[in-house]
Amino acid sequence: MGDRARRRRLGPLAGLVVAAVVAAGCMGGGLDQGESQQPAPQDSGPAQASPGARTTRADGTTSVAEFKQDFQDAVGLAEKYWTAQFRASGEQFRPIRRVVPYSRAGEVSCGGQGLPRNNAVYCSAGDFIAYDVNWSVSAFREIGDAFLFYLLGHEYAHGVQVRLGIRYDFTIQQELQADCMAGAYLGDSVRSGALTLADGDLDEFRDGLLAVGDDPDQPWFAEGSHGTAEQRSEKFFSGYENSLKACDLG
Ligand SMILES: [Zn+2]
Repeated sequence: MGDRARRRRLGPLAGLVVAAVVAAGCMGGGLDQGESQQPAPQDSGPAQASPGARTTRADGTTSVAEFKQDFQDAVGLAEKYWTAQFRASGEQFRPIRRVVPYSRAGEVSCGGQGLPRNNAVYCSAGDFIAYDVNWSVSAFREIGDAFLFYLLGHEYAHGVQVRLGIRYDFTIQQELQADCMAGAYLGDSVRSGALTLADGDLDEFRDGLLAVGDDPDQPWFAEGSHGTAEQRSEKFFSGYENSLKACDLG
């Protein structure tokens, strides 16, 4: 990456797109649990482990197929990461069951609710991550490829919270912890050599996080609150720099 011209293009539109990903889009653990809901069949196969170190790819023209592959790489990296974390505590990690790209509203449902377009979610009811692929590709082209790792890391963290039985009273607590866990997943992966960031990728995280903050007037306790840009950046980078001990996993 390191394409400065591209990063400078991050404007209000990009902000809006990302805000939708995380604010409206990320339903996190909020959807009802316990119901066994299968996503509609899709062409995403089982996630594959990331083969060795990878470098985030240069931006530029990105096809839907390339995007799906990059997303799948990020999933593989997250599986490897969380498997190792759980193993270190003597626990076995069960990877999130599926990652499902979709392109039409209602094509995939979660707990009986059809997912709208322009969305990315972790569905606890069926234990899967689903994302609108066309819309995600647009965001990816606009913002850059490193931010895809943040997005996946955040949604994946919601699945880990469910596995750990973490359920806060307020969405903001759940969301900021997921930001911290996404930061830890990325920072630790860089430290272990499993992921190599290109110049400018950290700025991309910073720019992206600044774009996804809640409106400053939104009450922190409101349902769906994710945190201000400052809170989100602080949590993400404290996870990135200090690993999971920064994330209050108990
Ligand atoms: Zn979330």
